Amino acid sequence: MIRIAFDHSYARDLPDAWAPVRPDTPPAPELLYWNAELADELGLDASQADENELARLFSGADIPEGAQPIAQAYAGHQFGGLSPSLGDGRALLLGEIMDNNGQRRDIALKGSGQTPFSRRGDGKAAAGPMLRELIVGEAMQALGIPTTRALAVTATGESVHRERPLPGAVLARVAASHLRVGTFQYFAIRGETGMLEKLADYTIARHYPELAGQDGRHLALLAAVAERQAALIARWMHAGFIHGVMNTDNMALSGETIDYGPCAFMDAHYPGTVFSSIDHQGRYSYGNQPAIAQWNLARFAETLLPLISPADPAAAVPAATEIVEGFEEQYQRRWLEQARRKLGLEGERDGDQALADDWLVLLAAHGVDHTLAWRYLADEAEGKPERLTSLFPSPDTLAPWLKQWHARHVPRTRRPPDIAAAMRRESPLYIPRNHLVEEALDAASERGDMKPALKLLEALRQPFTEREGLERYALPAEPELAEGYRTFCGT
Ligand code: AMP
Ligand code: MG
Repeated sequence: MIRIAFDHSYARDLPDAWAPVRPDTPPAPELLYWNAELADELGLDASQADENELARLFSGADIPEGAQPIAQAYAGHQFGGLSPSLGDGRALLLGEIMDNNGQRRDIALKGSGQTPFSRRGDGKAAAGPMLRELIVGEAMQALGIPTTRALAVTATGESVHRERPLPGAVLARVAASHLRVGTFQYFAIRGETGMLEKLADYTIARHYPELAGQDGRHLALLAAVAERQAALIARWMHAGFIHGVMNTDNMALSGETIDYGPCAFMDAHYPGTVFSSIDHQGRYSYGNQPAIAQWNLARFAETLLPLISPADPAAAVPAATEIVEGFEEQYQRRWLEQARRKLGLEGERDGDQALADDWLVLLAAHGVDHTLAWRYLADEAEGKPERLTSLFPSPDTLAPWLKQWHARHVPRTRRPPDIAAAMRRESPLYIPRNHLVEEALDAASERGDMKPALKLLEALRQPFTEREGLERYALPAEPELAEGYRTFCGT
């Protein structure tokens, strides 16, 4: 029997923020994927466990010893409209464990059945979306972007009913925590200031311990969350990642990317890119993500006003507003830092922002692949322009910008191959291309064939290292395939 030293600080410290639940018993649990690397990091010794045992433990068939399954309460603004009671409608928290680095991590199940928060939902998940969460999460991790991760994906042996019957699965998810902006909103809406205070202290202890016990800690919490979100969204933007449902319940206070639904990576660089079938207004388009993060942050700030200034919450508005407004600059600073590294620049000069902006305008104007353009710019740094120019309609379209970019590299202290190598450590070759993700999900969920998913994961685990035999994993889909690509929430 695999032993897990569960703790339950969330359940203990925040008694009004959850409900006890039991997972459904899947009829025929079968392990589709076990993340051995993550299990090691968590200090889980699965060496004695067989696949069947793991499948049962991480699908709800058996409840691991010491686990205390609960559904967490939260509210959320979904596409701008407030839902006062969302909560884990198809997920549960088994408990927390301390990983090898002494970090507290949640282990949760998703797709494990109904809870008091299910409303009209069935509490289930289809295998496709759970495998998408695995693949995209592992890709993000390898790209160095903070993210929740899949520990296991288990087929349940049951059909879930969407537009058509689909094979069901349960995802075992590991997160720094599942605290969300929406968790605060849940208590703020209800005027439960006592619970808000407990929640703030809990969030601080878990994610921002340097603020614990400080007088101005609630305002400082807002600033700290803003800082982490600015860093996170800057990373998303450079990766070409589109979350797709940046509702306030899907913004984690830890600064991790959470709740991969209709997410996707953009091919051609275009700020208006939207993949989600339900995002009709483009609210969560690629280019809107920084502004939406700021909007979500404003909703978070509102929940904190009665803590920042208990006698007169309105008096806290100017200070909170200053932080929320400062997000833009923070984000821009983070973005530019990484842009400089991706451009291979040394030091900081005034024109750097414009140089980076002009590059992206050029990509957008010619529909150039975001990932490959950045990647092949590194070739140019060592005098090999072919792959880069092949992305543009003609060398002339690129020449004026390249001239400026080369000029910016004078004088330089590093050798061209070193500059190129440093650029390649910032700009991946392998991202989860939409057509490859679909191919992997189809094979796994329709035919139980995990081989394409495993091969894709192999490419994505070392995204910065070009390897022979993985050529097709670097390339975008043929334009006909990419055209009209749509993702679904998969609920
Ligand atoms: P999401 O869009 O995945 O972030 O989910 C939004 C809300 O809907 C959360 O409260 C989920 O728990 C809930 N939800 C999503 N799918 C289901 C489902 N199949 N059954 C019950 N609740 C669900
Ligand atoms: Mg969610």
